[in-house]
Formats: sequence, structure tokens, C-alpha cells
Amino acid sequence: MTKNKQFIVGPVELYQNTRDVYQKNFTYFRTSDFGDMVKASIKELNHLVGNDLENSMIYLTASGTAAMEAVIENCTNPTDKAIVINGGTFGHRFCELLEYHDVEYTAINLEWNETLTIEHLKEYENKDYTMLFANLHETSTGQLYDIKMLSEFAKRNNLLLVVDAISTFLADEYNMSKYGIDTTIISSQKGLCLSAGLSFVSFSQRMLDKISNKVKSASKYFDFKDYLVNITRGQTPYTPAVFIMYELQDMLELIKIEGGLQARLDFIEKKCNYFRQKVSEIGLNIPDYPLSNMLTPIIFEDIKASDVIRILKDKYNIFVNPCGGKLADKIIRVSHIGNTTLEDIDNLVEKMQLAIAEVKEAQYARK
Ligand SMILES: *Cc1c(COP(=O)(O)O)cnc(C)c1O
Repeated sequence: MTKNKQFIVGPVELYQNTRDVYQKNFTYFRTSDFGDMVKASIKELNHLVGNDLENSMIYLTASGTAAMEAVIENCTNPTDKAIVINGGTFGHRFCELLEYHDVEYTAINLEWNETLTIEHLKEYENKDYTMLFANLHETSTGQLYDIKMLSEFAKRNNLLLVVDAISTFLADEYNMSKYGIDTTIISSQKGLCLSAGLSFVSFSQRMLDKISNKVKSASKYFDFKDYLVNITRGQTPYTPAVFIMYELQDMLELIKIEGGLQARLDFIEKKCNYFRQKVSEIGLNIPDYPLSNMLTPIIFEDIKASDVIRILKDKYNIFVNPCGGKLADKIIRVSHIGNTTLEDIDNLVEKMQLAIAEVKEAQYARK
């Protein structure tokens, strides 16, 4: 069977390096050896999100949504009033989680092709809000929000800024201290290109203080106070996904060897620009709103996007992402993270052209 190629948002195809980790020796996790390895990796990862505060990052054995929920359980109070940027599936998820945990919030709702601007924020200036939640890259549409604008808005209104950076981290520039971000959520299966199952949460000093002043977390298993005490020794309250921590250690080393954070971002940008140039050459359209380098949405007007996706999968063994809901027939999302090369992109574009031609032919035959 020929190897499939995945241009999906995650879990992405692992690097051979990462797979090779499983040939090495593992240490029992309740040892100082394992703890030291975790401490070093967490420190480095925290540095990559732009936070050099000691012991300010924890990790959970759970997917990104659990981290989003745990943040709400540990970082909000009954007196909080939140604003949520709701530009798609993941913004909606923050709304659902806040609602579930009885945190009062107002959603700024965007249509799929609507760019978030300062105009949207205007009516929320100088009100009694206390927190701002944003999925910096709304993966369901590909829109990348303006972090500088959100950061300045949060600062002048004294809001604690919580950012789901899951699909922008290691694809676009991101820096917690530069933008005064109070909480960052990332997870293993996106830009980090690791197996699914771990998420990481990083805090500012303000947020650490808020967590420590909170009487009780809404969750026992995900009580951040416990995690924050344990992480000072590189430990977790309960058994973590030990093997993914070894994958992480290896990936952080790989990023270093390849030239560091900027080299990593440059490589993703290169793949992204290469793909966008090619699709524009063959006359395909991408949205006008600001995009993350992690993902390119392609808009189809005259044929069904879902037909193109099906042919790519069934005939050419290539996987790309559909869009949810009413955009399912309109948009294909192509990811630029994961173990893909420029040659893979050449092949993808070639096969996309063939798939599009096939869909068009079938359509005209029906007419
Ligand atoms: C992938 C993703 C998540 C996490 O989803 P899980 O399925 O829980 O891992 C959260 N937010 C964004 C923006 C994402 O892209």
C-alpha cells in the first residue's frame, strides 16, 4: 500500500525522529531522572511561548479541549465577566464551556468571512468585563486574529487575557510576555507534531496569583494548584502520558538542531507561501481575512469541496480537512504543519487539479 499523505490540522504525521524515540529506554516516571527531563522540557517549551517565569507552565494528560475547560475551572471566579471572540467552532467551544461552568460572558460573534477589527471591540470598552478569551487562530475558518489589537484592548480595559494558541503555536509568531498574555493553552498534536494526548498551560504572574487565591477548583483531577506544586519537581499529581514527554524532549532538540524557533516558523511560512502561490496560479481562491501560516482554506464556488476531498482520499490517498456545518461544500482546509515537504505540496496541487477536473466533468455530464 502506498503511504498516505496528510495535510490535516492534527494529529499530524509524526517525524521519523519522533517515532524512533520508542526504540530508546524509558525511565519510571516517579524518579528524579524523569522529573529533571520534564523540568528541562517544560522550561524550554515555556520559553518558546515567550514566558520565562519559573514554574509557570503545567501539563495535562488530556486533549486541548480539556485544557480549555480546566482553565475555566481554575482561572475564573463567580464574579468574572468574560468576553469571548466567537469566530467558529473553537470560539463556540469556549462559549459552551463558560456556560457550562456558569461564568457570565458576552460573545463577539463573527460570520465566517468577517474579519475581527477594532470596531467589534468598541462597545465593550470601559465596561465591567474582567477577562477576554480568544482562540488566536480559529482553526475552523483559518482566521488569525490580531494579537496586538487584542492585547492592547485587554491592557487598557484591565482584562485577564486567555489565549487558546493550539493551532498558531509554532506556525506564527507568538509571545506571552510581549503581548501581556495571562494564560496560553497549547497541545501536543498540532504544531509540535507529537502524538495526541498532552496539553500545556502557561501562566503570567497575575494568573498564578489568581489561581492560588481561588478557594477551590471546580475539578479535583484538574486542580491546577496540585499541578503547580508538582511541576516544581517535574512531576504531575497522576500518571502522565509518559511517552509523549519523551517525544517532546526529542522534538525540542530537533527544533534546536534545525536552528531554533525562528527557523521553525520560517519553514512553516515557506511551505505555506509555496502552497498559496501554487493555488493562486491554478486560479483557486483563498479568503480575504488574515490567515495563519498553519492553514490555507480554499474556497470553491462552482463545485462541491466535499467531492474534491473524497477523490483526493479515495483515489490519491491524500488527506485534507473539510469544513464543518454550512461551509462543508464550500471550503477545503490544507494544513502546513506536520511532516510534509515542498515535493509533497507539488504532488498535492497536481492531484487537486486532477480531482477538480474530475468533479467538473461529472457535473457537466449530469447537465
Ligand atoms: C485542535 C484545537 C483544539 C483542541 O481540540 P482537541 O480535539 O480537544 O484536541 C482547541 N482549539 C483549537 C483552536 C484547535 O485547533
